[in-house]
Amino acid sequence: MGLVHSVFTADALAKLKGHIAIGHNRYSTAGASTLENAQPLVRNYKQGPLALGHNGNLVNAVQIRNHLENAGSIFSTSLDTEVIFHLIAHSRKEALEYRIIDALRSIEGAYSFVCMDKNTLIGARDAHGFRPLWLGKLGNAYVLTSETCALDVIEAEPIREVEPGELIFTRSNYRGVESFRFHKRQSQLSQCIFEYIYLARPDSMMFGQSVNNTRREFGRQLAREHPVKADVVIPVPDSATIAALGYAEESGIPFDLGLSRNTFVGRSFMNPTQDIRELMVKIKLNPVRDVLRDKRVILVDDSIMRGTNSRKLIKIVRQGGATAVHLRIASPPNKFSCFYGVDTPTRSELIASSHTIEEIRKYSRADSLGYLSIEGLLNSVETPQDFCTTCFDGKYPIPFVEESSQQLPLIVD
Ligand code: SF4
Repeated sequence: MGLVHSVFTADALAKLKGHIAIGHNRYSTAGASTLENAQPLVRNYKQGPLALGHNGNLVNAVQIRNHLENAGSIFSTSLDTEVIFHLIAHSRKEALEYRIIDALRSIEGAYSFVCMDKNTLIGARDAHGFRPLWLGKLGNAYVLTSETCALDVIEAEPIREVEPGELIFTRSNYRGVESFRFHKRQSQLSQCIFEYIYLARPDSMMFGQSVNNTRREFGRQLAREHPVKADVVIPVPDSATIAALGYAEESGIPFDLGLSRNTFVGRSFMNPTQDIRELMVKIKLNPVRDVLRDKRVILVDDSIMRGTNSRKLIKIVRQGGATAVHLRIASPPNKFSCFYGVDTPTRSELIASSHTIEEIRKYSRADSLGYLSIEGLLNSVETPQDFCTTCFDGKYPIPFVEESSQQLPLIVD
Protein backbone atom coordinates (compact mmCIF):
# COMPACT_ATOMS: atom_id res chain seq x y z
CA MET A 1 0.00 0.00 0.00
CA GLY A 2 1.38 3.44 -0.82
CA LEU A 3 3.09 5.34 -3.58
CA VAL A 4 4.99 3.33 -6.17
CA HIS A 5 8.38 4.79 -5.38
CA SER A 6 8.05 4.13 -1.66
CA VAL A 7 6.76 0.56 -2.07
CA PHE A 8 9.01 -0.59 -4.91
CA THR A 9 12.34 0.37 -3.43
CA ALA A 10 15.59 -0.73 -5.06
CA ASP A 11 15.84 -3.53 -2.45
CA ALA A 12 12.32 -4.75 -3.14
CA LEU A 13 12.90 -4.76 -6.89
CA ALA A 14 16.25 -6.56 -6.56
CA LYS A 15 14.42 -9.54 -5.04
CA LEU A 16 12.22 -9.96 -8.11
CA LYS A 17 13.85 -12.51 -10.42
CA GLY A 18 12.54 -13.62 -13.79
CA HIS A 19 12.06 -12.82 -17.46
CA ILE A 20 8.45 -11.67 -17.45
CA ALA A 21 6.48 -9.33 -15.19
CA ILE A 22 3.27 -7.38 -14.82
CA GLY A 23 2.45 -4.55 -12.42
CA HIS A 24 -0.60 -2.57 -11.46
CA ASN A 25 -1.21 0.82 -9.89
CA ARG A 26 -4.64 0.64 -8.32
CA TYR A 27 -7.12 3.22 -7.22
CA SER A 28 -10.26 1.57 -6.03
CA THR A 29 -13.44 1.46 -8.13
CA ALA A 30 -14.97 -1.96 -7.43
CA GLY A 31 -13.70 -3.45 -4.13
CA ALA A 32 -12.37 -1.51 -1.16
CA SER A 33 -8.89 0.00 -0.92
CA THR A 34 -7.31 -2.86 1.06
CA LEU A 35 -4.15 -4.90 0.66
CA GLU A 36 -6.06 -8.08 -0.17
CA ASN A 37 -7.60 -6.22 -3.12
CA ALA A 38 -4.22 -5.05 -4.43
CA GLN A 39 -3.43 -6.24 -7.92
CA PRO A 40 -2.04 -8.08 -9.81
CA LEU A 41 -3.98 -11.02 -8.38
CA VAL A 42 -2.18 -14.35 -8.56
CA ARG A 43 -4.09 -17.65 -8.61
CA ASN A 44 -3.26 -21.27 -9.35
CA TYR A 45 -5.55 -23.21 -11.62
CA LYS A 46 -5.06 -26.67 -13.08
CA GLN A 47 -2.45 -25.48 -15.60
CA GLY A 48 -0.37 -23.51 -13.08
CA PRO A 49 -0.10 -19.95 -11.79
CA LEU A 50 -1.74 -17.02 -13.50
CA ALA A 51 -1.46 -13.31 -12.62
CA LEU A 52 -3.84 -10.58 -13.69
CA GLY A 53 -4.14 -6.79 -13.37
CA HIS A 54 -7.20 -4.93 -14.57
CA ASN A 55 -8.05 -1.31 -15.38
CA GLY A 56 -11.78 -0.62 -15.61
CA ASN A 57 -15.02 -1.87 -14.13
CA LEU A 58 -17.09 -4.95 -14.97
CA VAL A 59 -20.79 -4.15 -14.90
CA ASN A 60 -22.03 -7.74 -14.51
CA ALA A 61 -19.40 -8.95 -12.01
CA VAL A 62 -21.89 -9.22 -9.11
CA GLN A 63 -24.21 -11.45 -11.10
CA ILE A 64 -21.38 -13.68 -12.30
CA ARG A 65 -19.98 -13.89 -8.80
CA ASN A 66 -23.36 -14.85 -7.31
CA HIS A 67 -23.74 -17.51 -9.95
CA LEU A 68 -20.24 -18.92 -9.33
CA GLU A 69 -20.62 -18.83 -5.54
CA ASN A 70 -23.91 -20.70 -5.81
CA ALA A 71 -22.00 -23.30 -7.81
CA GLY A 72 -19.36 -23.61 -5.06
CA SER A 73 -16.60 -21.14 -6.04
CA ILE A 74 -14.79 -19.45 -3.16
CA PHE A 75 -13.67 -15.83 -3.61
CA SER A 76 -10.91 -14.26 -1.54
CA THR A 77 -11.29 -10.58 -2.52
CA SER A 78 -14.17 -8.18 -3.16
CA LEU A 79 -12.77 -7.31 -6.61
CA ASP A 80 -14.72 -7.58 -9.83
CA THR A 81 -11.40 -8.73 -11.35
CA GLU A 82 -11.50 -12.04 -9.49
CA VAL A 83 -14.47 -13.31 -11.51
CA ILE A 84 -12.23 -13.36 -14.60
CA PHE A 85 -9.97 -15.95 -12.91
CA HIS A 86 -12.88 -18.14 -11.99
CA LEU A 87 -14.29 -17.97 -15.49
CA ILE A 88 -10.88 -18.92 -16.94
CA ALA A 89 -10.60 -21.85 -14.51
CA HIS A 90 -14.17 -23.02 -15.25
CA SER A 91 -13.72 -23.04 -19.03
CA ARG A 92 -13.74 -26.47 -20.60
CA LYS A 93 -11.22 -25.41 -23.25
CA GLU A 94 -7.66 -26.69 -22.95
CA ALA A 95 -5.54 -23.86 -24.44
CA LEU A 96 -5.21 -20.77 -22.26
CA GLU A 97 -6.13 -18.38 -25.10
CA TYR A 98 -9.50 -20.09 -25.58
CA ARG A 99 -10.13 -20.23 -21.83
CA ILE A 100 -9.56 -16.47 -21.69
CA ILE A 101 -11.81 -15.90 -24.71
CA ASP A 102 -14.56 -17.86 -22.92
CA ALA A 103 -14.10 -15.62 -19.88
CA LEU A 104 -14.06 -12.40 -21.90
CA ARG A 105 -17.26 -13.31 -23.72
CA SER A 106 -19.00 -13.66 -20.35
CA ILE A 107 -17.98 -10.35 -18.84
CA GLU A 108 -19.50 -6.97 -19.69
CA GLY A 109 -18.09 -3.56 -19.00
CA ALA A 110 -14.94 -1.53 -19.34
CA TYR A 111 -11.60 -3.21 -19.07
CA SER A 112 -8.10 -3.33 -20.32
CA PHE A 113 -6.09 -6.00 -18.62
CA VAL A 114 -2.67 -7.56 -18.55
CA CYS A 115 -2.18 -11.16 -17.55
CA MET A 116 0.67 -13.67 -17.50
CA ASP A 117 1.54 -17.28 -16.89
CA LYS A 118 5.17 -18.36 -16.59
CA ASN A 119 5.93 -17.89 -20.29
CA THR A 120 3.22 -15.70 -21.78
CA LEU A 121 2.39 -12.03 -21.55
CA ILE A 122 -1.24 -11.41 -22.38
CA GLY A 123 -3.30 -8.26 -22.93
CA ALA A 124 -6.95 -7.61 -23.77
CA ARG A 125 -9.18 -4.62 -24.32
CA ASP A 126 -12.97 -4.63 -24.10
CA ALA A 127 -15.00 -4.44 -27.29
CA HIS A 128 -16.15 -0.86 -26.63
CA GLY A 129 -12.56 0.34 -26.11
CA PHE A 130 -13.33 2.28 -22.92
CA ARG A 131 -9.84 2.02 -21.48
CA PRO A 132 -6.56 2.41 -23.34
CA LEU A 133 -3.95 -0.32 -23.87
CA TRP A 134 -0.74 -0.04 -25.89
CA LEU A 135 1.66 -2.60 -27.26
CA GLY A 136 5.33 -1.69 -27.45
CA LYS A 137 8.68 -3.38 -27.97
CA LEU A 138 11.94 -3.22 -26.05
CA GLY A 139 14.66 -5.22 -27.85
CA ASN A 140 13.10 -8.66 -28.30
CA ALA A 141 10.60 -8.15 -25.49
CA TYR A 142 7.04 -6.96 -25.83
CA VAL A 143 5.55 -4.44 -23.43
CA LEU A 144 1.90 -3.67 -22.64
CA THR A 145 0.88 -0.44 -20.95
CA SER A 146 -2.06 1.93 -20.58
CA GLU A 147 -0.10 5.00 -21.64
CA THR A 148 2.73 5.54 -24.09
CA CYS A 149 4.61 7.77 -21.61
CA ALA A 150 5.51 4.54 -19.76
CA LEU A 151 7.11 3.19 -22.95
CA ASP A 152 9.18 6.38 -23.25
CA VAL A 153 10.51 5.95 -19.71
CA ILE A 154 11.96 2.51 -20.46
CA GLU A 155 12.95 3.52 -24.02
CA ALA A 156 10.57 1.01 -25.62
CA GLU A 157 9.10 1.65 -29.07
CA PRO A 158 5.32 2.04 -29.29
CA ILE A 159 3.93 -0.41 -31.90
CA ARG A 160 0.18 0.13 -31.82
CA GLU A 161 -2.89 0.31 -29.61
CA VAL A 162 -4.49 -3.03 -28.78
CA GLU A 163 -7.77 -3.02 -30.70
CA PRO A 164 -11.10 -3.02 -28.89
CA GLY A 165 -12.21 -6.68 -28.70
CA GLU A 166 -8.66 -7.98 -29.24
CA LEU A 167 -6.68 -10.44 -27.13
CA ILE A 168 -2.89 -10.37 -27.52
CA PHE A 169 -0.50 -13.22 -26.68
CA THR A 170 3.27 -12.85 -26.66
CA ARG A 171 5.12 -16.05 -25.74
CA SER A 172 8.72 -16.40 -24.68
CA ASN A 173 9.32 -19.21 -27.25
CA TYR A 174 7.74 -17.29 -30.14
CA ARG A 175 9.02 -14.04 -31.58
CA GLY A 176 5.77 -12.55 -32.89
CA VAL A 177 2.51 -11.33 -31.44
CA GLU A 178 -0.57 -13.56 -31.70
CA SER A 179 -3.83 -11.70 -32.01
CA PHE A 180 -7.30 -13.15 -31.33
CA ARG A 181 -10.56 -11.30 -31.79
CA PHE A 182 -13.06 -12.26 -29.08
CA HIS A 183 -15.76 -9.77 -30.10
CA LYS A 184 -16.54 -8.49 -33.54
CA ARG A 185 -15.68 -4.90 -34.27
CA GLN A 186 -18.33 -2.49 -32.92
CA SER A 187 -19.78 0.05 -35.36
CA GLN A 188 -19.30 2.67 -32.64
CA LEU A 189 -16.76 2.66 -29.79
CA SER A 190 -17.06 4.18 -26.29
CA GLN A 191 -13.54 5.39 -25.57
CA CYS A 192 -13.43 7.36 -22.32
CA ILE A 193 -13.20 11.07 -23.13
CA PHE A 194 -12.36 11.75 -19.49
CA GLU A 195 -8.91 10.28 -20.20
CA TYR A 196 -8.24 13.38 -22.32
CA ILE A 197 -9.85 15.74 -19.80
CA TYR A 198 -8.08 14.58 -16.65
CA LEU A 199 -6.71 11.07 -16.34
CA ALA A 200 -4.05 10.63 -19.00
CA ARG A 201 -0.68 12.32 -19.07
CA PRO A 202 -0.22 14.96 -21.78
CA ASP A 203 2.93 13.25 -23.04
CA SER A 204 0.93 10.16 -24.04
CA MET A 205 -0.77 9.18 -27.27
CA MET A 206 -4.20 7.74 -26.75
CA PHE A 207 -7.15 6.66 -28.91
CA GLY A 208 -5.26 7.70 -32.02
CA GLN A 209 -4.34 11.25 -31.01
CA SER A 210 -2.06 13.20 -28.70
CA VAL A 211 -3.44 13.92 -25.21
CA ASN A 212 -1.60 17.25 -25.18
CA ASN A 213 -3.13 18.47 -28.47
CA THR A 214 -6.61 17.34 -27.54
CA ARG A 215 -6.52 18.90 -24.08
CA ARG A 216 -5.13 22.12 -25.54
CA GLU A 217 -7.95 22.19 -28.10
CA PHE A 218 -10.48 21.84 -25.23
CA GLY A 219 -8.96 25.06 -23.83
CA ARG A 220 -9.10 26.86 -27.18
CA GLN A 221 -12.70 25.85 -27.70
CA LEU A 222 -13.53 26.95 -24.15
CA ALA A 223 -12.08 30.41 -24.93
CA ARG A 224 -14.24 30.63 -28.06
CA GLU A 225 -17.36 29.64 -26.13
CA HIS A 226 -16.76 31.70 -22.97
CA PRO A 227 -14.65 34.81 -23.62
CA VAL A 228 -14.23 37.38 -20.84
CA LYS A 229 -12.07 40.48 -20.28
CA ALA A 230 -9.21 39.63 -17.93
CA ASP A 231 -5.49 40.21 -17.30
CA VAL A 232 -4.17 36.70 -16.83
CA VAL A 233 -5.10 33.05 -17.44
CA ILE A 234 -4.00 30.67 -14.70
CA PRO A 235 -4.46 26.89 -14.49
CA VAL A 236 -5.38 24.69 -11.57
CA PRO A 237 -2.14 22.70 -11.61
CA ASP A 238 -1.33 20.25 -12.99
CA SER A 239 -4.28 18.67 -14.73
CA ALA A 240 -5.67 21.94 -16.18
CA THR A 241 -2.33 23.42 -17.29
CA ILE A 242 -2.59 22.33 -20.93
CA ALA A 243 -6.23 23.45 -21.28
CA ALA A 244 -5.31 26.84 -19.75
CA LEU A 245 -2.48 27.20 -22.29
CA GLY A 246 -5.04 26.58 -25.03
CA TYR A 247 -7.39 29.17 -23.51
CA ALA A 248 -4.57 31.74 -23.33
CA GLU A 249 -3.47 31.07 -26.93
CA GLU A 250 -6.97 31.49 -28.30
CA SER A 251 -7.90 34.53 -26.19
CA GLY A 252 -4.55 36.33 -26.45
CA ILE A 253 -4.57 36.86 -22.65
CA PRO A 254 -1.20 36.07 -20.99
CA PHE A 255 -0.77 32.68 -19.30
CA ASP A 256 0.89 32.49 -15.90
CA LEU A 257 1.23 30.19 -12.90
CA GLY A 258 -0.78 31.81 -10.14
CA LEU A 259 -1.09 28.71 -7.96
CA SER A 260 1.97 26.89 -6.73
CA ARG A 261 1.54 23.19 -6.28
CA ASN A 262 3.12 21.03 -3.59
CA THR A 263 4.27 18.12 -5.75
CA PHE A 264 4.25 15.65 -2.86
CA VAL A 265 0.47 15.69 -2.63
CA GLY A 266 -1.59 13.52 -5.01
CA ARG A 267 -4.85 14.03 -6.86
CA SER A 268 -7.62 15.25 -4.61
CA PHE A 269 -10.84 13.87 -6.10
CA MET A 270 -9.44 10.32 -5.82
CA ASN A 271 -9.06 10.56 -2.06
CA PRO A 272 -11.64 8.59 -0.18
CA THR A 273 -12.91 11.05 2.45
CA GLN A 274 -14.13 14.65 2.29
CA ASP A 275 -11.95 15.73 5.25
CA ILE A 276 -8.79 14.46 3.59
CA ARG A 277 -9.77 16.00 0.23
CA GLU A 278 -10.33 19.41 1.83
CA LEU A 279 -7.08 19.33 3.76
CA MET A 280 -5.24 18.30 0.62
CA VAL A 281 -6.48 21.29 -1.38
CA LYS A 282 -5.06 23.58 1.31
CA ILE A 283 -1.73 21.78 1.55
CA LYS A 284 -1.51 21.35 -2.19
CA LEU A 285 -1.97 24.85 -3.54
CA ASN A 286 -0.67 28.23 -2.50
CA PRO A 287 -1.26 31.58 -4.26
CA VAL A 288 1.61 33.25 -6.13
CA ARG A 289 0.89 36.83 -5.06
CA ASP A 290 3.12 38.52 -7.69
CA VAL A 291 1.02 36.93 -10.41
CA LEU A 292 -2.40 37.50 -8.85
CA ARG A 293 -2.23 40.87 -7.10
CA ASP A 294 -4.69 43.43 -8.57
CA LYS A 295 -5.43 41.16 -11.57
CA ARG A 296 -8.66 40.02 -13.18
CA VAL A 297 -8.01 36.29 -13.32
CA ILE A 298 -9.37 33.52 -15.55
CA LEU A 299 -8.97 30.35 -13.52
CA VAL A 300 -9.10 27.22 -15.72
CA ASP A 301 -9.92 23.83 -14.20
CA ASP A 302 -10.46 20.48 -15.90
CA SER A 303 -13.77 19.59 -14.21
CA ILE A 304 -16.00 20.22 -11.20
CA MET A 305 -17.20 17.23 -9.17
CA ARG A 306 -18.65 18.21 -5.78
CA GLY A 307 -17.86 21.92 -6.11
CA THR A 308 -16.07 22.18 -2.78
CA ASN A 309 -12.63 22.30 -4.41
CA SER A 310 -13.64 25.14 -6.75
CA ARG A 311 -14.90 27.20 -3.83
CA LYS A 312 -11.61 26.75 -1.98
CA LEU A 313 -9.52 27.45 -5.06
CA ILE A 314 -11.33 30.71 -5.73
CA LYS A 315 -10.82 31.71 -2.11
CA ILE A 316 -7.08 31.02 -2.46
CA VAL A 317 -6.88 33.07 -5.69
CA ARG A 318 -8.68 36.00 -4.01
CA GLN A 319 -6.35 35.72 -1.00
CA GLY A 320 -3.52 36.13 -3.51
CA GLY A 321 -4.92 39.56 -4.42
CA ALA A 322 -7.07 38.91 -7.52
CA THR A 323 -9.75 41.55 -8.07
CA ALA A 324 -12.00 39.20 -10.08
CA VAL A 325 -12.01 35.45 -10.64
CA HIS A 326 -13.67 34.01 -13.76
CA LEU A 327 -13.90 30.23 -13.52
CA ARG A 328 -13.64 28.29 -16.80
CA ILE A 329 -14.06 24.51 -16.93
CA ALA A 330 -12.51 22.55 -19.80
CA SER A 331 -15.29 19.94 -19.83
CA PRO A 332 -19.11 19.98 -19.65
CA PRO A 333 -20.99 19.82 -16.31
CA ASN A 334 -20.39 16.45 -14.65
CA LYS A 335 -23.91 15.21 -13.92
CA PHE A 336 -23.70 11.40 -13.97
CA SER A 337 -21.56 8.80 -12.21
CA CYS A 338 -19.20 6.57 -14.12
CA PHE A 339 -19.66 2.78 -13.93
CA TYR A 340 -16.83 2.11 -16.35
CA GLY A 341 -13.72 2.41 -14.23
CA VAL A 342 -13.40 6.03 -13.11
CA ASP A 343 -14.07 6.59 -9.43
CA THR A 344 -16.35 9.63 -9.78
CA PRO A 345 -18.59 10.57 -6.82
CA THR A 346 -22.15 9.24 -6.61
CA ARG A 347 -24.70 11.18 -8.64
CA SER A 348 -26.18 12.93 -5.60
CA GLU A 349 -22.69 14.25 -4.69
CA LEU A 350 -22.09 15.74 -8.15
CA ILE A 351 -23.03 19.37 -7.83
CA ALA A 352 -24.09 19.75 -11.47
CA SER A 353 -26.61 16.91 -11.14
CA SER A 354 -28.86 19.07 -8.97
CA HIS A 355 -27.73 22.69 -9.46
CA THR A 356 -27.82 25.13 -12.35
CA ILE A 357 -24.65 26.75 -13.64
CA GLU A 358 -25.66 30.01 -11.96
CA GLU A 359 -26.16 28.20 -8.63
CA ILE A 360 -22.71 26.59 -8.98
CA ARG A 361 -21.20 30.01 -9.75
CA LYS A 362 -22.77 31.47 -6.64
CA TYR A 363 -21.66 28.53 -4.50
CA SER A 364 -18.07 28.71 -5.76
CA ARG A 365 -18.10 32.52 -5.42
CA ALA A 366 -16.75 33.05 -8.92
CA ASP A 367 -17.48 36.30 -10.78
CA SER A 368 -18.47 34.23 -13.80
CA LEU A 369 -18.52 30.54 -14.70
CA GLY A 370 -18.33 28.90 -18.11
CA TYR A 371 -18.20 25.20 -19.00
CA LEU A 372 -17.08 23.69 -22.31
CA SER A 373 -20.13 22.39 -24.20
CA ILE A 374 -20.53 18.71 -25.15
CA GLU A 375 -20.43 19.79 -28.83
CA GLY A 376 -17.20 21.72 -28.21
CA LEU A 377 -15.69 18.71 -26.44
CA LEU A 378 -16.57 16.36 -29.29
CA ASN A 379 -15.45 18.82 -31.98
CA SER A 380 -11.97 18.58 -30.45
CA VAL A 381 -11.55 14.85 -31.19
CA GLU A 382 -11.11 13.24 -34.60
CA THR A 383 -13.82 10.55 -34.35
CA PRO A 384 -16.46 11.97 -32.01
CA GLN A 385 -18.83 9.04 -32.54
CA ASP A 386 -16.27 6.75 -30.86
CA PHE A 387 -16.27 8.39 -27.42
CA CYS A 388 -18.18 7.85 -24.20
CA THR A 389 -19.63 11.09 -22.79
CA THR A 390 -21.90 9.46 -20.22
CA CYS A 391 -20.75 11.54 -17.27
CA PHE A 392 -22.13 14.60 -19.09
CA ASP A 393 -25.20 13.31 -20.95
CA GLY A 394 -26.23 10.19 -18.98
CA LYS A 395 -26.36 8.02 -22.11
CA TYR A 396 -24.89 4.81 -20.71
CA PRO A 397 -23.55 2.70 -23.60
CA ILE A 398 -23.71 -0.51 -21.53
CA PRO A 399 -26.64 -0.89 -19.17
CA PHE A 400 -25.59 -1.37 -15.58
CA VAL A 401 -26.91 -4.83 -14.69
CA GLU A 402 -29.08 -4.78 -11.57
CA GLU A 403 -28.07 -7.16 -8.80
CA SER A 404 -31.48 -8.80 -8.90
CA SER A 405 -31.07 -9.89 -12.52
CA GLN A 406 -29.98 -13.48 -12.75
CA GLN A 407 -29.90 -13.86 -16.54
CA LEU A 408 -26.25 -14.60 -17.14
CA PRO A 409 -24.46 -14.65 -20.45
CA LEU A 410 -22.05 -17.33 -19.19
CA ILE A 411 -20.19 -19.10 -21.95
CA VAL A 412 -18.09 -21.99 -20.70
CA ASP A 413 -18.15 -24.28 -23.69
FE1 SF4 B 1 -15.15 8.07 -19.08
FE2 SF4 B 1 -17.21 9.48 -18.16
FE3 SF4 B 1 -17.61 7.44 -19.83
FE4 SF4 B 1 -16.75 6.99 -17.33
S1 SF4 B 1 -18.74 7.83 -17.93
S2 SF4 B 1 -16.01 6.01 -19.21
S3 SF4 B 1 -15.45 8.77 -16.98
S4 SF4 B 1 -16.53 9.36 -20.28
